[in-house]
Amino acid sequence: MIYLDHAAATPVSKKVLEAMRPYFSDEFFNPGAAYLPAKKVAHDYEDAKNIIARAIGTKGNDLIITAGATEANNLALSGVLSEPVFLGPLRAARPSLRPFEKRVSATPSRVLYLVTEHESIRRVAEKFNGTAVKVLPNGLVDMVDLKAKITDETELVSISLANNELGVIQPLAEIGALIREIKMDRLKRGIKRQLLLHSDASQALNLLDINVSRLGVDLMTLNAAKVYGPKGVGALYVSRDAKLKPLTVGGGQENGLRSGTENVPGVIGFSKAISEAKEHLNGNRKKYSELKKIFLAKLEDYELINKKHTLDNFVVLCYNGLDAERLVFLLEEKEIYVATGAACAASKGVRSHVLEAIGLSDSEINGSLRITFGEMNTKEQILEATKIINEVVANEKERMKNG
Ligand code: PLP
Repeated sequence: MIYLDHAAATPVSKKVLEAMRPYFSDEFFNPGAAYLPAKKVAHDYEDAKNIIARAIGTKGNDLIITAGATEANNLALSGVLSEPVFLGPLRAARPSLRPFEKRVSATPSRVLYLVTEHESIRRVAEKFNGTAVKVLPNGLVDMVDLKAKITDETELVSISLANNELGVIQPLAEIGALIREIKMDRLKRGIKRQLLLHSDASQALNLLDINVSRLGVDLMTLNAAKVYGPKGVGALYVSRDAKLKPLTVGGGQENGLRSGTENVPGVIGFSKAISEAKEHLNGNRKKYSELKKIFLAKLEDYELINKKHTLDNFVVLCYNGLDAERLVFLLEEKEIYVATGAACAASKGVRSHVLEAIGLSDSEINGSLRITFGEMNTKEQILEATKIINEVVANEKERMKNG
Protein backbone atom coordinates (compact mmCIF):
# COMPACT_ATOMS: atom_id res chain seq x y z
CA MET A 1 0.00 0.00 0.00
CA ILE A 2 1.02 3.60 -0.55
CA TYR A 3 -0.55 5.73 2.17
CA LEU A 4 -0.82 9.41 1.24
CA ASP A 5 -3.35 10.67 3.77
CA HIS A 6 -1.28 11.68 6.78
CA ALA A 7 -3.46 14.72 7.45
CA ALA A 8 -6.23 12.27 8.38
CA ALA A 9 -4.19 9.93 10.56
CA THR A 10 -0.62 8.97 11.32
CA PRO A 11 0.47 5.54 12.55
CA VAL A 12 1.67 5.33 16.15
CA SER A 13 5.43 4.90 15.88
CA LYS A 14 7.07 1.83 17.46
CA LYS A 15 9.02 3.96 19.94
CA VAL A 16 5.81 5.71 21.00
CA LEU A 17 4.03 2.40 21.48
CA GLU A 18 6.94 1.06 23.58
CA ALA A 19 6.95 4.17 25.75
CA MET A 20 3.21 3.83 26.39
CA ARG A 21 3.08 0.09 27.07
CA PRO A 22 4.14 -0.02 30.76
CA TYR A 23 1.49 2.54 31.71
CA PHE A 24 -1.37 0.27 30.67
CA SER A 25 -0.48 -2.55 33.04
CA ASP A 26 2.54 -2.30 35.38
CA GLU A 27 2.26 1.43 36.01
CA PHE A 28 -1.52 1.54 36.02
CA PHE A 29 -1.98 3.55 39.23
CA ASN A 30 -4.26 6.53 39.44
CA PRO A 31 -1.98 9.59 39.56
CA GLY A 32 -4.31 11.12 42.13
CA ALA A 33 -3.78 8.31 44.67
CA ALA A 34 -1.70 8.87 47.80
CA TYR A 35 0.75 5.92 47.80
CA LEU A 36 4.23 5.94 46.35
CA PRO A 37 3.73 3.96 43.08
CA ALA A 38 0.86 6.30 42.18
CA LYS A 39 3.02 9.32 42.98
CA LYS A 40 5.65 7.99 40.57
CA VAL A 41 2.99 7.75 37.85
CA ALA A 42 1.85 11.31 38.66
CA HIS A 43 5.47 12.42 38.36
CA ASP A 44 5.92 10.69 34.98
CA TYR A 45 2.66 12.27 33.80
CA GLU A 46 3.84 15.77 34.77
CA ASP A 47 7.20 15.12 33.11
CA ALA A 48 5.43 14.09 29.93
CA LYS A 49 3.27 17.23 30.03
CA ASN A 50 6.40 19.32 30.44
CA ILE A 51 7.97 17.70 27.38
CA ILE A 52 4.85 18.44 25.29
CA ALA A 53 4.73 21.99 26.62
CA ARG A 54 8.42 22.66 25.96
CA ALA A 55 7.88 21.72 22.32
CA ILE A 56 5.72 24.84 21.98
CA GLY A 57 7.81 27.01 24.30
CA THR A 58 5.78 26.81 27.48
CA LYS A 59 5.38 24.86 30.76
CA GLY A 60 3.35 21.76 31.56
CA ASN A 61 1.12 23.64 33.95
CA ASP A 62 -0.16 25.74 31.03
CA LEU A 63 -1.48 22.64 29.22
CA ILE A 64 -4.91 21.10 29.69
CA ILE A 65 -4.88 17.54 28.41
CA THR A 66 -8.01 16.59 26.47
CA ALA A 67 -9.34 13.63 24.52
CA GLY A 68 -8.16 15.03 21.20
CA ALA A 69 -8.26 18.27 19.25
CA THR A 70 -12.04 18.35 18.91
CA GLU A 71 -12.41 18.58 22.67
CA ALA A 72 -9.56 21.10 22.96
CA ASN A 73 -11.23 23.33 20.34
CA ASN A 74 -14.59 22.99 22.10
CA LEU A 75 -12.98 23.85 25.43
CA ALA A 76 -11.22 26.89 23.96
CA LEU A 77 -14.36 28.37 22.47
CA SER A 78 -17.03 27.28 24.93
CA GLY A 79 -14.67 27.81 27.86
CA VAL A 80 -14.17 31.47 26.94
CA LEU A 81 -17.69 32.23 25.75
CA SER A 82 -19.88 30.36 28.24
CA GLU A 83 -21.54 32.20 31.03
CA PRO A 84 -19.98 31.33 34.41
CA VAL A 85 -20.77 27.77 35.40
CA PHE A 86 -22.46 27.67 38.78
CA LEU A 87 -20.41 25.28 40.87
CA GLY A 88 -22.42 25.35 44.08
CA PRO A 89 -21.73 22.92 46.89
CA LEU A 90 -22.71 19.59 45.38
CA ARG A 91 -24.43 18.08 48.40
CA ALA A 92 -26.35 21.24 49.21
CA ALA A 93 -27.58 21.82 45.65
CA ARG A 94 -31.34 21.75 45.29
CA PRO A 95 -32.53 19.95 42.13
CA SER A 96 -33.99 23.19 40.78
CA LEU A 97 -30.54 24.80 40.80
CA ARG A 98 -29.29 22.56 37.98
CA PRO A 99 -25.69 23.21 39.06
CA PHE A 100 -23.86 22.60 35.79
CA GLU A 101 -26.17 24.37 33.42
CA LYS A 102 -24.46 26.84 31.12
CA ARG A 103 -26.33 29.65 29.45
CA VAL A 104 -25.25 30.87 26.05
CA SER A 105 -25.18 34.58 25.41
CA ALA A 106 -26.82 35.74 22.20
CA THR A 107 -24.51 38.74 21.76
CA PRO A 108 -23.15 38.63 18.19
CA SER A 109 -19.49 38.83 17.28
CA ARG A 110 -18.05 37.82 20.62
CA VAL A 111 -16.14 35.28 18.59
CA LEU A 112 -14.52 35.56 15.17
CA TYR A 113 -13.28 32.48 13.36
CA LEU A 114 -11.71 31.87 10.00
CA VAL A 115 -14.28 30.59 7.53
CA THR A 116 -11.97 27.64 6.71
CA GLU A 117 -11.70 26.37 10.30
CA HIS A 118 -12.31 22.74 11.26
CA GLU A 119 -15.90 21.80 12.15
CA SER A 120 -14.96 21.49 15.83
CA ILE A 121 -14.43 25.26 15.79
CA ARG A 122 -17.11 26.32 13.30
CA ARG A 123 -19.91 24.41 14.99
CA VAL A 124 -19.13 25.89 18.43
CA ALA A 125 -18.61 29.41 17.05
CA GLU A 126 -21.96 29.22 15.24
CA LYS A 127 -23.63 28.24 18.53
CA PHE A 128 -22.35 31.54 19.97
CA ASN A 129 -23.43 33.60 16.94
CA GLY A 130 -19.82 33.88 15.80
CA THR A 131 -18.77 35.79 12.71
CA ALA A 132 -16.69 34.17 9.99
CA VAL A 133 -13.61 35.98 8.69
CA LYS A 134 -12.95 35.65 4.96
CA VAL A 135 -9.94 34.08 3.30
CA LEU A 136 -8.19 35.23 0.14
CA PRO A 137 -8.21 32.95 -2.93
CA ASN A 138 -4.86 31.52 -1.75
CA GLY A 139 -6.44 30.45 1.56
CA LEU A 140 -4.67 33.04 3.70
CA VAL A 141 -6.71 35.11 6.15
CA ASP A 142 -8.08 38.33 4.68
CA MET A 143 -6.42 40.74 7.12
CA VAL A 144 -8.59 43.65 5.97
CA ASP A 145 -11.74 41.66 6.76
CA LEU A 146 -10.31 40.52 10.11
CA LYS A 147 -9.43 44.08 11.17
CA ALA A 148 -12.86 45.32 10.10
CA LYS A 149 -14.65 42.62 12.09
CA ILE A 150 -12.84 43.00 15.42
CA THR A 151 -14.99 45.25 17.62
CA ASP A 152 -15.00 46.13 21.32
CA GLU A 153 -17.41 43.17 21.74
CA THR A 154 -14.90 40.63 20.42
CA GLU A 155 -13.54 38.31 23.09
CA LEU A 156 -12.04 35.54 21.01
CA VAL A 157 -10.45 35.16 17.59
CA SER A 158 -9.86 31.62 16.36
CA ILE A 159 -7.50 31.09 13.43
CA SER A 160 -5.74 27.79 12.84
CA LEU A 161 -2.01 27.73 12.32
CA ALA A 162 -2.38 25.45 9.29
CA ASN A 163 -5.58 24.41 7.57
CA ASN A 164 -6.44 20.71 7.45
CA GLU A 165 -7.71 20.68 3.86
CA LEU A 166 -5.19 22.99 2.18
CA GLY A 167 -2.22 22.94 4.54
CA VAL A 168 -2.12 26.75 4.22
CA ILE A 169 -0.07 28.31 7.02
CA GLN A 170 -1.63 31.47 8.43
CA PRO A 171 0.50 34.52 9.37
CA LEU A 172 -0.20 33.92 13.05
CA ALA A 173 2.60 36.12 14.42
CA GLU A 174 1.17 39.04 12.44
CA ILE A 175 -2.33 38.30 13.76
CA GLY A 176 -0.91 37.95 17.29
CA ALA A 177 0.74 41.37 16.98
CA LEU A 178 -2.55 42.90 15.79
CA ILE A 179 -4.42 41.40 18.75
CA ARG A 180 -1.78 42.70 21.17
CA GLU A 181 -2.15 46.20 19.68
CA ILE A 182 -5.92 46.06 20.13
CA LYS A 183 -5.50 44.84 23.71
CA MET A 184 -3.26 47.84 24.47
CA ASP A 185 -5.74 50.19 22.88
CA ARG A 186 -8.58 48.69 24.94
CA LEU A 187 -6.51 49.12 28.08
CA LYS A 188 -5.93 52.80 27.26
CA ARG A 189 -9.64 53.32 26.70
CA GLY A 190 -10.51 51.55 29.94
CA ILE A 191 -12.26 48.62 28.25
CA LYS A 192 -11.84 45.58 30.46
CA ARG A 193 -13.22 42.91 28.11
CA GLN A 194 -10.68 40.17 27.40
CA LEU A 195 -9.52 39.58 23.83
CA LEU A 196 -7.90 36.21 23.22
CA LEU A 197 -6.29 34.58 20.21
CA HIS A 198 -6.86 30.85 19.78
CA SER A 199 -5.12 28.74 17.19
CA ASP A 200 -5.68 25.12 16.23
CA ALA A 201 -2.19 23.77 15.52
CA SER A 202 -3.29 20.15 14.96
CA GLN A 203 -1.82 19.87 11.47
CA ALA A 204 1.25 22.03 12.06
CA LEU A 205 2.71 20.47 15.18
CA ASN A 206 5.20 18.18 13.46
CA LEU A 207 5.94 20.47 10.52
CA LEU A 208 6.57 23.87 12.05
CA ASP A 209 8.72 25.16 14.87
CA ILE A 210 6.04 26.51 17.20
CA ASN A 211 6.50 28.96 20.04
CA VAL A 212 3.35 30.31 21.69
CA SER A 213 4.95 33.56 22.87
CA ARG A 214 6.49 34.30 19.50
CA LEU A 215 3.13 33.71 17.84
CA GLY A 216 1.28 35.76 20.45
CA VAL A 217 -1.46 33.19 21.01
CA ASP A 218 -3.40 32.83 24.27
CA LEU A 219 -4.87 29.43 23.48
CA MET A 220 -3.52 26.68 21.24
CA THR A 221 -4.91 23.27 20.31
CA LEU A 222 -2.55 20.31 19.89
CA ASN A 223 -3.35 16.85 18.55
CA ALA A 224 -1.28 13.73 19.27
CA ALA A 225 -3.01 11.77 16.51
CA LYS A 226 -1.39 13.85 13.76
CA VAL A 227 2.17 13.48 15.06
CA TYR A 228 2.50 9.68 15.20
CA GLY A 229 1.00 9.61 18.70
CA PRO A 230 -2.20 7.98 19.94
CA LYS A 231 -5.66 9.01 18.76
CA GLY A 232 -8.02 10.61 21.26
CA VAL A 233 -5.23 12.59 22.96
CA GLY A 234 -4.82 16.32 22.62
CA ALA A 235 -4.08 19.41 24.64
CA LEU A 236 -5.11 23.01 24.98
CA TYR A 237 -2.43 25.53 25.84
CA VAL A 238 -3.96 28.19 28.08
CA SER A 239 -1.96 31.35 28.79
CA ARG A 240 -2.12 32.84 32.26
CA ASP A 241 -4.17 35.78 30.91
CA ALA A 242 -6.96 33.57 29.61
CA LYS A 243 -9.96 32.96 31.81
CA LEU A 244 -11.80 29.77 30.96
CA LYS A 245 -14.68 27.78 32.35
CA PRO A 246 -14.54 23.99 32.28
CA LEU A 247 -16.68 21.84 30.01
CA THR A 248 -16.45 18.90 32.40
CA VAL A 249 -16.40 19.13 36.16
CA GLY A 250 -15.64 16.47 38.72
CA GLY A 251 -12.38 15.58 40.42
CA GLY A 252 -10.69 18.86 39.43
CA GLN A 253 -7.83 17.42 37.36
CA GLU A 254 -6.00 19.64 34.83
CA ASN A 255 -6.27 22.79 36.95
CA GLY A 256 -10.00 22.19 37.33
CA LEU A 257 -10.50 22.75 33.60
CA ARG A 258 -10.86 19.11 32.56
CA SER A 259 -11.90 16.70 35.26
CA GLY A 260 -11.44 12.98 34.82
CA THR A 261 -8.70 10.47 35.63
CA GLU A 262 -5.64 11.31 33.59
CA ASN A 263 -4.93 9.35 30.39
CA VAL A 264 -1.39 8.49 31.47
CA PRO A 265 -0.39 6.15 28.59
CA GLY A 266 -1.85 8.61 26.08
CA VAL A 267 0.11 11.55 27.45
CA ILE A 268 3.33 9.52 27.73
CA GLY A 269 2.80 8.52 24.07
CA PHE A 270 2.12 12.12 23.07
CA SER A 271 5.31 13.32 24.77
CA LYS A 272 7.40 10.66 23.01
CA ALA A 273 5.76 11.44 19.67
CA ILE A 274 6.33 15.17 20.00
CA SER A 275 9.96 14.65 21.02
CA GLU A 276 10.52 12.57 17.90
CA ALA A 277 8.70 15.13 15.77
CA LYS A 278 10.99 17.87 17.10
CA GLU A 279 14.08 15.77 16.53
CA HIS A 280 13.14 15.03 12.91
CA LEU A 281 11.49 18.36 12.07
CA ASN A 282 14.10 19.73 9.68
CA GLY A 283 14.89 16.37 8.10
CA ASN A 284 11.22 15.62 7.53
CA ARG A 285 10.50 19.05 6.08
CA LYS A 286 13.36 18.68 3.63
CA LYS A 287 12.23 15.18 2.71
CA TYR A 288 8.59 16.25 2.14
CA SER A 289 9.50 19.23 -0.01
CA GLU A 290 11.68 16.95 -2.15
CA LEU A 291 8.88 14.39 -2.42
CA LYS A 292 6.47 17.19 -3.34
CA LYS A 293 8.80 18.42 -6.09
CA ILE A 294 9.11 14.92 -7.58
CA PHE A 295 5.38 14.29 -7.24
CA LEU A 296 4.35 17.49 -9.02
CA ALA A 297 6.99 17.08 -11.73
CA LYS A 298 5.81 13.58 -12.62
CA LEU A 299 2.05 14.18 -12.45
CA GLU A 300 0.21 15.08 -15.65
CA ASP A 301 -2.73 17.32 -16.47
CA TYR A 302 -3.61 18.74 -13.09
CA GLU A 303 -4.04 22.11 -11.48
CA LEU A 304 -2.29 22.80 -8.19
CA ILE A 305 -4.68 24.45 -5.73
CA ASN A 306 -2.44 25.21 -2.73
CA LYS A 307 0.46 26.92 -4.46
CA LYS A 308 2.04 28.94 -1.65
CA HIS A 309 2.36 29.25 2.14
CA THR A 310 1.62 25.56 2.70
CA LEU A 311 2.95 22.82 4.93
CA ASP A 312 5.69 20.86 3.15
CA ASN A 313 3.70 17.62 3.12
CA PHE A 314 0.43 18.99 1.66
CA VAL A 315 -0.59 18.85 -2.01
CA VAL A 316 -4.10 19.72 -3.19
CA LEU A 317 -4.74 18.93 -6.84
CA CYS A 318 -7.67 19.61 -9.06
CA TYR A 319 -8.70 17.45 -12.02
CA ASN A 320 -11.44 19.72 -13.27
CA GLY A 321 -14.31 17.78 -14.82
CA LEU A 322 -13.46 14.51 -13.06
CA ASP A 323 -15.10 13.09 -9.94
CA ALA A 324 -12.48 13.00 -7.17
CA GLU A 325 -14.55 10.60 -5.08
CA ARG A 326 -14.39 8.13 -7.94
CA LEU A 327 -10.64 8.73 -8.26
CA VAL A 328 -10.22 7.96 -4.54
CA PHE A 329 -12.13 4.71 -5.05
CA LEU A 330 -10.16 3.74 -8.18
CA LEU A 331 -6.86 4.50 -6.43
CA GLU A 332 -7.94 2.50 -3.39
CA GLU A 333 -8.34 -0.51 -5.69
CA LYS A 334 -4.63 -0.12 -6.44
CA GLU A 335 -3.86 0.31 -2.72
CA ILE A 336 -3.10 4.01 -2.97
CA TYR A 337 -4.85 5.97 -0.23
CA VAL A 338 -5.63 9.65 -0.80
CA ALA A 339 -8.45 11.99 0.25
CA THR A 340 -10.93 14.35 -1.31
CA GLY A 341 -10.97 16.71 1.69
CA ALA A 342 -11.10 16.52 5.46
CA ALA A 343 -11.51 12.82 6.32
CA CYS A 344 -14.62 13.37 8.46
CA ALA A 345 -16.32 15.48 5.78
CA ALA A 346 -15.22 13.17 2.96
CA SER A 347 -16.75 10.05 4.53
CA LYS A 348 -20.11 11.84 4.85
CA GLY A 349 -20.06 13.14 1.28
CA VAL A 350 -20.30 16.76 2.51
CA ARG A 351 -19.00 19.44 0.14
CA SER A 352 -15.81 21.09 1.33
CA HIS A 353 -16.52 24.51 2.91
CA VAL A 354 -12.79 25.22 2.63
CA LEU A 355 -12.55 24.78 -1.14
CA GLU A 356 -15.76 26.77 -1.48
CA ALA A 357 -14.30 29.59 0.66
CA ILE A 358 -11.27 29.98 -1.62
CA GLY A 359 -13.61 30.44 -4.56
CA LEU A 360 -13.42 27.11 -6.39
CA SER A 361 -16.34 26.26 -8.65
CA ASP A 362 -18.53 23.19 -8.02
CA SER A 363 -16.75 21.22 -10.70
CA GLU A 364 -13.33 22.19 -9.33
CA ILE A 365 -14.38 21.13 -5.84
CA ASN A 366 -15.70 17.84 -7.19
CA GLY A 367 -12.38 17.20 -8.90
CA SER A 368 -10.07 18.00 -5.97
CA LEU A 369 -7.77 15.54 -4.23
CA ARG A 370 -5.74 16.02 -1.04
CA ILE A 371 -2.41 14.20 -0.82
CA THR A 372 -0.39 14.39 2.38
CA PHE A 373 3.04 12.78 2.73
CA GLY A 374 4.38 11.19 5.87
CA GLU A 375 7.40 9.58 7.45
CA MET A 376 6.99 6.18 5.83
CA ASN A 377 6.76 7.52 2.25
CA THR A 378 9.79 7.00 0.04
CA LYS A 379 10.84 8.46 -3.31
CA GLU A 380 10.09 5.08 -4.91
CA GLN A 381 6.56 5.12 -3.50
CA ILE A 382 5.97 8.63 -4.81
CA LEU A 383 7.18 7.66 -8.29
CA GLU A 384 4.93 4.59 -8.24
CA ALA A 385 1.98 6.65 -6.99
CA THR A 386 2.36 9.30 -9.73
CA LYS A 387 2.52 6.59 -12.39
CA ILE A 388 -0.72 5.01 -11.13
CA ILE A 389 -2.51 8.34 -10.60
CA ASN A 390 -1.60 9.41 -14.15
CA GLU A 391 -2.97 6.12 -15.52
CA VAL A 392 -6.18 6.30 -13.49
CA VAL A 393 -6.76 9.94 -14.47
CA ALA A 394 -6.09 9.23 -18.16
CA ASN A 395 -8.54 6.30 -18.11
CA GLU A 396 -11.16 8.43 -16.43
CA LYS A 397 -10.73 11.21 -19.00
CA GLU A 398 -11.09 8.67 -21.77
CA ARG A 399 -14.20 7.21 -20.14
CA MET A 400 -15.74 10.70 -19.80
CA LYS A 401 -14.95 11.49 -23.44
CA ASN A 402 -16.71 8.35 -24.61
CA GLY A 403 -19.73 9.21 -22.47
N1 PLP B 1 -8.52 20.31 13.99
C1 PLP B 1 -7.86 19.99 12.87
C2 PLP B 1 -7.15 21.06 12.11
C3 PLP B 1 -7.85 18.67 12.42
O1 PLP B 1 -7.20 18.36 11.30
C4 PLP B 1 -8.55 17.69 13.17
C5 PLP B 1 -8.61 16.29 12.72
O2 PLP B 1 -8.67 15.95 11.59
C6 PLP B 1 -9.22 18.08 14.34
C7 PLP B 1 -9.17 19.39 14.72
C8 PLP B 1 -9.99 17.09 15.17
O3 PLP B 1 -9.15 16.16 15.73
P1 PLP B 1 -9.71 14.88 16.51
O4 PLP B 1 -10.68 14.22 15.57
O5 PLP B 1 -8.48 14.07 16.77
O6 PLP B 1 -10.35 15.35 17.75
